[in-house]
Amino acid sequence: MTRIELERVLTLNRVWQPLTTLVLRRALVLVSRDRARIVCPQTYQMFTWEQWLAQRAVPADTHVIEADYIRTAALQVRIPQVITLARFAGYPNAGVPFSRRGVYERDNGRCQYCNAVVHKRDMTLDHVVPVSRGGASTWGNCVLACARCNHRKADRTPREAEMTLLAVPQQPTRAKLLLRGVTSQPAWTPFIGKAVVAVATE
Ligand SMILES: [Zn+2]
Repeated sequence: MTRIELERVLTLNRVWQPLTTLVLRRALVLVSRDRARIVCPQTYQMFTWEQWLAQRAVPADTHVIEADYIRTAALQVRIPQVITLARFAGYPNAGVPFSRRGVYERDNGRCQYCNAVVHKRDMTLDHVVPVSRGGASTWGNCVLACARCNHRKADRTPREAEMTLLAVPQQPTRAKLLLRGVTSQPAWTPFIGKAVVAVATE
């Protein structure tokens, strides 16, 4: 895979709340179609694709830090780290739909009973209150468990099984899930920090 498929770009909505990260290729498509602007993380200045090429690209033979640039035939273009969508102002923080994968991410890939690291393919979803007792598949009633703990707990509540949950399961905020599985970059911090504060005060 090339860098254009590997590098990730923090993507903000129109009012600069973080939504997600996109692979560079997708981010560049949005910017070149004028559906998003590039944000300079140092100056907070916004750029169209043309403005970015005019100000943040150098000829192919200029010496640059390779990791920070992508190459075209004639140019080396600085890799954008943050973009803001031109139109979308929504903030889908209110409801993160329940999903098995989301439970895995929320619980940091650890069994919520024994704290063992669980590989994605080995994960089991434990219903804290068992389905047979009317327990629902919701954020508040499901945790990541290793096969061993899930087997041991069987059709019982944690109390009956004399097992203790590491944490009370809750619906995660989107800001919390934003960076799961993605390596954060220093340039993103000011934008993500804002969101976490916004979420915390809701
Ligand atoms: Zn376990």
